[in-house]
Amino acid sequence: MLRINNIVFLLKNNAFRRQAIKQYKKALKNESLSYKCLSELNFKKRKKLVNYAYNNISFYKKFYDTAGFNPDMLVSDKDWEMVPILEKDMIRSNIYDIKNPFVLKKYLGVATTGGSTGLPLKIYTDLRFHHEILGWRAFEWWNLSPAANVGIIHRRTPTTFIGKLKNRLLWWPTQRIYLNASSIDEKQLTDFIKSIGRKKIRWLQGYVGGLERVAEYIIINNIKIDTLKLVWSTSAPLTKSIRNKLEKAFNCKVMNQYGSCEVPNIAIQCPHSHDLHVNYDYVHVDIVDDSGKLIREGEGDILVTNLESYAFPIIKYRIGDRSAWVGTECNCNIPFPLIREVKGRISDAIYTPDGIYVDGSYLTTIFDEYVDVISKFQVYQKRDYSVIIYVIPYNNSFPIEDTILNIKNTLLEKVHNKISVIIQVVDTIADDKGKIRYVISEVL
Ligand SMILES: [Zn+2]
Repeated sequence: MLRINNIVFLLKNNAFRRQAIKQYKKALKNESLSYKCLSELNFKKRKKLVNYAYNNISFYKKFYDTAGFNPDMLVSDKDWEMVPILEKDMIRSNIYDIKNPFVLKKYLGVATTGGSTGLPLKIYTDLRFHHEILGWRAFEWWNLSPAANVGIIHRRTPTTFIGKLKNRLLWWPTQRIYLNASSIDEKQLTDFIKSIGRKKIRWLQGYVGGLERVAEYIIINNIKIDTLKLVWSTSAPLTKSIRNKLEKAFNCKVMNQYGSCEVPNIAIQCPHSHDLHVNYDYVHVDIVDDSGKLIREGEGDILVTNLESYAFPIIKYRIGDRSAWVGTECNCNIPFPLIREVKGRISDAIYTPDGIYVDGSYLTTIFDEYVDVISKFQVYQKRDYSVIIYVIPYNNSFPIEDTILNIKNTLLEKVHNKISVIIQVVDTIADDKGKIRYVISEVL
């Protein structure tokens, strides 16, 4: 069956997404490059992007001129230090000046990121590059095909009949099952677990928090899972205890991945190490100390450059996570450099006494539709399970009662009215060294 899946998968992609297959083949070829050739390719792409951005994107012209930087100064890799760092706030206040006016609308995607350490942020993505091919490439490291049957634990899952049907046709004959990570109750959980065996699901992809919740249920109820080959965990740090729990419950290996809405598939784990290989041919990563200096040793802030996005250039962007370079090479012979598992994404969640769980990756997005009304927020759960949501309105004279009521009702529905939720308007929300924690729970 898997061979048929593979053939149909390639045929369909070739017919409808020819560009994706072309890029996939190119990406596979890059794996045989030496590190030196790979670095040269990476630097060439950075230089091209910086030049393009300066000459075509009004934001970058102004930003670099003000900072005293000019792309001509970028001769060798060591000059990269001079390129100014792009902060999240700059993107937020200049979104339309960063968007490339010369790129056709059909190539522009929109991504909204909640993130645990930043305000909701809307950005544009370049649909001409298919970032999922980097996931496909990593699958080969794990002897798995992207056409294999998959279970997905995600915030966005098809809900309507038409949506489900379309999804079924799009992916057929590959089976895809879904679990909505934003709120998981026991019925959904048992249905999902039963489907893993029934539909011969080979791999799971999901948020750490959601995967952990499913794993706990499997362990407590002593359920045997024997069809899975890999669990792909994303969007939050994978602690050792969670990794062990996932491996035990799902009876297979766990592949850790680091990516974000702004730049997907930045770095992926291979079977030989717990560190992550940076997809260096498509994404550039820097690690900087507190003064913004590039470092090769020790932990620092991650800066990301998306080498493929000309529709919305993201260059030396401080993404809000931390990691460190790994000095040694990996045994796998893949030339992509290694970073340590990423720290800084906090997957806090809120809970009810009877075990309903609302994932932090969902909670950080509850204000996504109200970014013009609410400027800051924090979801705080006390030890007695009650939840207070602190909010700072954008403009004190603007009525926010309706927004508050909507948010409160949505959340109460998620927790089945089992705990109290109040929303409190405040003037300030305490931060942690400049980073806001969006969700804090004293429960657990
Ligand atoms: Zn490796």
